[in-house]
Amino acid sequence: MVRADRQGAHRVQFERNRRKILRTQNVCGICGKPVDVSLKPGNPMSPVVDHIIPIDKGGHPSDINNLQLAHWCCNRQKSDKIFKNQTEPKVLGNRNLPQSRNWAQF
Ligand SMILES: [Zn+2]
Repeated sequence: MVRADRQGAHRVQFERNRRKILRTQNVCGICGKPVDVSLKPGNPMSPVVDHIIPIDKGGHPSDINNLQLAHWCCNRQKSDKIFKNQTEPKVLGNRNLPQSRNWAQF
């Protein structure tokens, strides 16, 4: 699956909004602490532009209202949490099936 913000119009708009956020914001939207926008990528405290509502949760890929400044490490923790929630084991097997059926309701 191709992510909507990785292609075409959304990509262009995202880039534009990303630069705007880096220019106009200086506080992490996740932890609320200042972000040093001069830090280089690779530094855990370096700036990233985070989707407030993740795209795969129905968030807009490039709308500035769904984007915020964040530390790389905060963004990483946030997506880890979402990732963990998604991978909770949901084993559907014989054990999960009802053990008995109330035939009286038929
Ligand atoms: Zn932060």
